[in-house]
Amino acid sequence: MLQELLNFLNRSLTPYHAVETSLDLLTRSGFVRLREEDDWSLRPEGRYVVVRGHSSFMAWIMPRQSPAPCPIHLAVAHTDSPCLKPKANALKIKRGWLVFDLQVYGGVILSSWFDRDLSLAGIVYLRHPEGGLRHALVDCRQPLTRIPNLAIHLNRSLNDAYKINPHEELSAPFLPGDPSEENASNAPLRHLLFHILAPAHPGLEEADLLDWDLNLYDVNPATQAGSDGQWLVGSRLDNLLSVWTIVKALQEHDPRSAEAIAMGGCFDHEEVGSQSAYGANGNFAESIVSRLFPQESSRSRAMARSWLLSLDNAHACHPNYPSLQDEQHCPRLDAGVVLKRHPGLRYATNALSAARIKDLAYTEGLPLQEFTVRADMSCGTTVGPVLSASLGIPGVDLGVPTWAMHSIRETAGKRDVLHLQKLLKGFFA
Ligand code: ZN
Repeated sequence: MLQELLNFLNRSLTPYHAVETSLDLLTRSGFVRLREEDDWSLRPEGRYVVVRGHSSFMAWIMPRQSPAPCPIHLAVAHTDSPCLKPKANALKIKRGWLVFDLQVYGGVILSSWFDRDLSLAGIVYLRHPEGGLRHALVDCRQPLTRIPNLAIHLNRSLNDAYKINPHEELSAPFLPGDPSEENASNAPLRHLLFHILAPAHPGLEEADLLDWDLNLYDVNPATQAGSDGQWLVGSRLDNLLSVWTIVKALQEHDPRSAEAIAMGGCFDHEEVGSQSAYGANGNFAESIVSRLFPQESSRSRAMARSWLLSLDNAHACHPNYPSLQDEQHCPRLDAGVVLKRHPGLRYATNALSAARIKDLAYTEGLPLQEFTVRADMSCGTTVGPVLSASLGIPGVDLGVPTWAMHSIRETAGKRDVLHLQKLLKGFFA
């Protein structure tokens, strides 16, 4: 089971790859891909998936025929993770090196990206030989580049809360450059992408590569670690661990005895605020729900009985920083899924939804841990509050405790993955 999660993490290098990997698993379990531009005809116990923008998807399983509008049990997560991305003009000359000129996507722990074996992956949009566009996913696979640390001898303050300037210090050397040239073109990058894409695209020319969205990633795969192999360590655990759990629970869901629609929604752009056509703060979820219930009265009746689980990782208690976490609300790694609350509604959880999830956890025999941020600190947020508000259904924010959230190498507990899986299975049932 854990190997399946490791494979998922290692294949899902970008939100585009996460959606492709999820689609692969779902279609192999009988999910039919629907397109938003088509008419749909849904049948009882049917399994469906819709992708928007190649980086977000919603998948659901209809229950057996029911006379009343059936409720939705909706589990949501996000497909994106903080990372470094080449700018539109991706290369520049710096001290005789052709370097990737990078920008920061989301709240990256910048120091964790230094001295890593970095490659490049993402989506490329191609001119179609018969007009229009097509797209292809790319993975350069090789450790093409790195961001070398400066030797401690040249900056003695490196270990003293050193502030990294993202514009000056995140250039990643790629190829030797011509120091006499001031400006670099995208030609070497275009050439690299072309060579990866050409075998699968006969007749492709370099000029057909119109645009792309790429990010760097660490080629070091996710793995098990710890004295007893009790940890799961890797990139993008936030929040692909939750995406995988949703996909897995949908794969295993049996609709024959279910009275609700089991639905999963995984959205891009959470790390930058979710405000996009593909993000949780766009209309993707509302649009799918209104197509399932075209009549407003049926939709209201269904929503009145629906609820939402928003899955995103939580901060595990860190032994080195006891003063930065509320001692009464400091979840331990591998001790159960975390119920997240915030009085300012940065999380969707309220007493009603908390009571429902506690009831479910009790029935399933699963531990839950409570998290709230220190009263003198600000709090993160996730997709739960916006979806709970836009759909008008109670929501609860949950997640597995992790160390080093937003590092290029995060850590979670193996048992917590099993706890989350079991909880989600019970939620869909
Ligand atoms: Zn997250």
